[in-house]
Amino acid sequence: MNPGPVPPGATDRITAGPDPVAVTDPREPLALLLRDLRAGRGGLSEREAARRLVSAGPNELSRRRGRTWPREIARQLIHPLALLLWLAAVLAAVSGSAALAVAIVVVVLLNAAVAFVQEQHAEKAVEALAAFLPPLATVLRDDAERRVPVREIVPGDVLVIGEGDRVAADARLLDGYVEVDMSMLTGESVPVARSATEAPDTGPLLAAEDLVFSGTSCTAGSARVLVVATGMNTEIGRLAALSERVQRDESPLERQVRRVAWLIAAVAVGVGVAFLPIGLAAGLPFGEALTFAIGLLVANVPEGLLPTITLALAVGVRVLARRGAVVRRLSAVETLGSTTVICTDKTGTLTENRMRPVRLWTTAGDLPVDGVNWAASADGGSSVDRSSRVLAALGAALASCSDAQLAGDTYQTGGQVPSGRPGPDDAPPGPPRQGTELSKRDDESEDRGDEDRGDPTEIGLLRAAAWLGADTGRAVRLARRCLQAPFDPRLRRMTTVDETAPGRFAAFVKGAPEAVLERCETLATPDGGARPLAAADRDQVAALLAALAADGLRVLAIADRELPALPATGPDHREWRDGVESGLRLLGVVALADPPRAGVADAVAACHRAGIRINVVTGDHGLTAAAVARQVGIGGQGTAGLRIVAAEELDTLPESELDELLRDDRELVFARSSPETKLRIADALRDLGQVVAMTGDGVNDAPALRRADIGIAMGRSGTDVAREASTMVLTDDDFATIVAAIRAGRQVYDNVRKFVLYIFAHAVPEVVPFLVFALSGGAVPLPLTVLQILMIDLGTETLPALALGREPAEPGLMSRPPRPRREGVIRPAMLLRAWGILGVLSAVLVLAAFFVVLGRGGWHPGDPVGAGDPLHHIYLEATTMSFLAIVACQIGTALAARTEHAALREVGLFSNRLLLYGIAFEIAFAAAVVYLPFLHPVLDTVAVSPSNLIFLLPMPIIVWGADELWRAARRRRAQRQPVTH
Ligand code: ADP
Ligand code: MG
Repeated sequence: MNPGPVPPGATDRITAGPDPVAVTDPREPLALLLRDLRAGRGGLSEREAARRLVSAGPNELSRRRGRTWPREIARQLIHPLALLLWLAAVLAAVSGSAALAVAIVVVVLLNAAVAFVQEQHAEKAVEALAAFLPPLATVLRDDAERRVPVREIVPGDVLVIGEGDRVAADARLLDGYVEVDMSMLTGESVPVARSATEAPDTGPLLAAEDLVFSGTSCTAGSARVLVVATGMNTEIGRLAALSERVQRDESPLERQVRRVAWLIAAVAVGVGVAFLPIGLAAGLPFGEALTFAIGLLVANVPEGLLPTITLALAVGVRVLARRGAVVRRLSAVETLGSTTVICTDKTGTLTENRMRPVRLWTTAGDLPVDGVNWAASADGGSSVDRSSRVLAALGAALASCSDAQLAGDTYQTGGQVPSGRPGPDDAPPGPPRQGTELSKRDDESEDRGDEDRGDPTEIGLLRAAAWLGADTGRAVRLARRCLQAPFDPRLRRMTTVDETAPGRFAAFVKGAPEAVLERCETLATPDGGARPLAAADRDQVAALLAALAADGLRVLAIADRELPALPATGPDHREWRDGVESGLRLLGVVALADPPRAGVADAVAACHRAGIRINVVTGDHGLTAAAVARQVGIGGQGTAGLRIVAAEELDTLPESELDELLRDDRELVFARSSPETKLRIADALRDLGQVVAMTGDGVNDAPALRRADIGIAMGRSGTDVAREASTMVLTDDDFATIVAAIRAGRQVYDNVRKFVLYIFAHAVPEVVPFLVFALSGGAVPLPLTVLQILMIDLGTETLPALALGREPAEPGLMSRPPRPRREGVIRPAMLLRAWGILGVLSAVLVLAAFFVVLGRGGWHPGDPVGAGDPLHHIYLEATTMSFLAIVACQIGTALAARTEHAALREVGLFSNRLLLYGIAFEIAFAAAVVYLPFLHPVLDTVAVSPSNLIFLLPMPIIVWGADELWRAARRRRAQRQPVTH
């Protein structure tokens, strides 16, 4: 327990109970704070952290249970369409037909139950996504940096936060300098600076200069922080029980369908109301006419449509997550399907992000790099002078100017650092290391000393340093480092300032060749000296660059400079960077190979077949990017070609010309682009009506990710900030996953259209019999009873519709152009097919069945069929037959609805098990209705004789077959005149 008095302002943080570490004012002097938290600058031990996790609880915000079961069910019972049905039930009850009223209530309840189950399913699928992206934080445990799940962070932990990280707990800065976006807490979106101070601070907690808070994100800098509060004890935990939930916004699809559902409901009401006078005119008594009107209305209100769509989207979300694409909004599934342009990063998305050094150039010569440690091996196999000091200097610079850590480096943060401060000139040989095994794969296991860590570019460069014999140990490097200017994607370079020997300082700069060369004045000579960098030298380097880049290699230049003293400014790199990064001495150039990922070429080809254009937006050199793009087929076969746009060109390009460029059919490589470029491109493409998927990983990519239709963040290499701005996160960073996601999006959308078609089609055979009755002026008795209609609505329609939502992808799904953004779910062709083909045919078959049974029984138009009339039993059998005929036609319709273009043969009759079960249920249900005697008086059915039953058998085949022929005809037409977009 904190023995000292609790300062004012901190009392509200005190929690009762045995928790020994929650009673702390984060603003008390650091020494006191450390003592109160029983913590040290080197972090806790794993064991202590585990103990604290038990007492302090997990670091997460407990979710307010927003939705509860009874409330959810109630919601299903009182949504507007359900209300409409309730009204119908009341009307039925007052008009005296209790059976109908009861049946309608059953319809409402059953639908509510189904909808409830569907929504729960959807909710679960969406909630399960969180498990795919467990947030991690870097924490010091047992004096070493670890990546641990955020929920395991405890008070007293020391966190390492850097650019793009989300701050995982409320914490006090121990050292370093960061800028944080506090908008989550304060609404203020301009980042504020935070650094470690000893100055007492008594203002508002949120304004304290050395505190950072859970839920905010770090936009620049890096720092070590001491965790003072976790979970619900954090400021954000106190503010509100926010949580990382996937948003359940209404997608355009759902909005459209909601509108359509209302339209159909209005039509149903209209049909019902219109039936009343028609029925009366045809000679029905008022009560019966009203009953029919109500029955028609109920049968045609599509109350199950929306939850079915929600579920289809949710199922899509789950499939996507398993494929490595975690969406953060349900509606993204749908948008994905209409993607027309993908703007992708190169490094890590198209390529493996495993950089392997392959060439080194210095004034001592041009060195091919291979797997053998050149510095240590007896024969270097090269004409380059091994004693060349410039090579040693290059190695030392590469090792110094890096934040990565090679496998086998046993460096432990917070431990003792070596006392010796070796400079580049007296670099010790260092322990033998395995760092020279150049193609070692990174493992996916958690960080330990047995794998490479850090930026892949830097890992590649460190390997080159190791190859040259430099000491790449991180401890040595950090012990010497005085200042650091991190890699800036706009400047494209990074700089460190080291104390190379007591009182001697040097700057090491590495970055894109242009970005470094423009700051160089001299060139390192083989003996380690310097000579002016002549125009001829620049030309030589430029030619070398062009040659290396054309091979798809990433090229970096390395330079250094001796400094008389440390810059007099503070640690903020923006104050000293420009001064230090000037008058540099060029040491050399390193070329790194980063092979394309397996599978990307196939994915690119799939995009091209699917009419999706791919643009590469990269910070890399144009030639490098173009070479990689070509290797995977971007701008290749099936496209209009490739065009490289350099950032310099783009920056001065007026909007109109940018539009022109983007309208061009060629695929584009935007080289040396900045985050602003991305934003501009996303904007322009959207204005051109394209549906844009855009990848990004850095803090600065967030605006472009938000602006794109589908912002795609990298789950592995990306920052938390990018992830939060995105619509979708790739857990494997792989371009091929984007394409798989688009495919899944198309599939979900297709399936929604399939069951909409199915549900639409059944209206015609239900309504037409009533029209026949009405138009015949009552000469033809009603071919269907109201309760039979409700049986269809209730028992036989739902399951196949659900099953259609799970259809496997139709062949050709990815060989047609994207669906236009404004195209609705319901198109004229679909209505023609639903009503004109499937519906009309079904209606004809249903009426035929009805008349056959009547005719065989000796009925003639106009004969009375009422209760007590001799033909009454025949009439009941005929209406039962109509019911069965509708069921039979529904089976045919369901089979037809399975594909929109392809033949059923192509997808296979048995490929949708769920549908087969649905049909089996449908048949069993219909058999029960017809052959269970106790249901007969309730539903006005009778057993149908086997000789009549025979007529049902061909019906599914006729309905499905007609649609099959229609589809075949459409396919032939499409082949004659290919669709162009
Ligand atoms: P990409 O779009 O390929 O990810 P980046 O923005 O990461 O490109 O990098 C752009 C350029 O900046 C690279 O071509 C390289 O020359 C340079 N660069 C990349 N990473 C670093 C780094 N860690 N330090 C210095 N320079 C770097
Ligand atoms: Mg990068």
